[in-house]
Amino acid sequence: MYNSNMNELIQKAKLKHNLTKNEIIGLLSNKDIDIELFSAADEVRKKYVGDEVHLRALIEFSNYCRCSCLYCGIRCDNRLVERYRLSKDQILSLSKIAVDFGYKTIVLQSGEDIYYSADYLSQIIKKIKENDVAVTLSIGERPAEEYKILKEAGADRFLLRIETTDIELYKKMHPKASIENRKRCLYDLKNLGYETGSGCLVGLPNQSIESLADDILFFKELDADMIGIGPLIPHENTPLKNVNSGDFNLALKVMALTRLLLPDINIPATTAMETLNPNGRLIALQSGANVVMPNVTFDEYKSKYEIYPDKAKVDYNELLTVLNKIGRFVSNEKGFRNKLI
Ligand code: SAH
Repeated sequence: MYNSNMNELIQKAKLKHNLTKNEIIGLLSNKDIDIELFSAADEVRKKYVGDEVHLRALIEFSNYCRCSCLYCGIRCDNRLVERYRLSKDQILSLSKIAVDFGYKTIVLQSGEDIYYSADYLSQIIKKIKENDVAVTLSIGERPAEEYKILKEAGADRFLLRIETTDIELYKKMHPKASIENRKRCLYDLKNLGYETGSGCLVGLPNQSIESLADDILFFKELDADMIGIGPLIPHENTPLKNVNSGDFNLALKVMALTRLLLPDINIPATTAMETLNPNGRLIALQSGANVVMPNVTFDEYKSKYEIYPDKAKVDYNELLTVLNKIGRFVSNEKGFRNKLI
């Protein structure tokens, strides 16, 4: 397709927030319209979610995992990781530090660790919710009944990336899981009233552009409230140790298209983007993203939660300076999705 057609597609996405699969494929494959695509996503971000940036304090409370996702450094088959679990009191003291610092959302993330029963997690959630903050969970697949208990305890949001919608690729990458159950979880979470986050990895072996277009359409079909897109970063103690890193620019394009099609959702500038590109966070914030997730876990555990190597950090003061330079500011709100379309 000629670039004039591509520019028309970008205009259409900007106004109507709809594209066909072929149109998405066209934009993802074209190398000449990236700047136009990123600036359209930036405009739509500004129009729908404004210049405020929501910070979410991330607590990585356990790196035990029953799964063996081929890309992930804390997969159960990696015997070289030193495993840790934070107690309820440790999690609560980290939350308190984050709340006192001014964070309005606490994200509790872990491997798939069923040591933490729904009841135990509920006690933690209830305590955190005594403060005026939102709680997000990112603990993997659980039965609907457990999601319900956690919601009733006060959890507001849940992050569960679909990772890829390509059925064959999903099977290969997740030997202990099924895409049907992943989707079941996402729809259960939606139905239970969670703000539901999903997303995908960019750069899985043999992942096609077509399947990335399907991923974006899946986000739309789910009506996801949050979407995190991350380039794959190979970890040396996983079966994917020899694959190339995901393409930063392609991940950014998937993110920008997601902003165009789901204009009012929350989209983080992911740590994986910042890890691959020293300006990744800033670039993402100017290409559709409006969220940053600083890691507030104790340092001794941060290094053990190594889903991929050399994870980028957030320096709070540096972030403020950078945001200021681009006319953005840290929000004082909890940052729920304000559904406009
Ligand atoms: N156990 C939780 C949290 C997983 S970690 C869950 O299942 O949702 C959060 C995200 O890290 C994953 O969803 C995955 O997309 C990403 N991730 C894992 N390994 C990665 C790697 N090697 N490179 C980039 N991102 C990775």
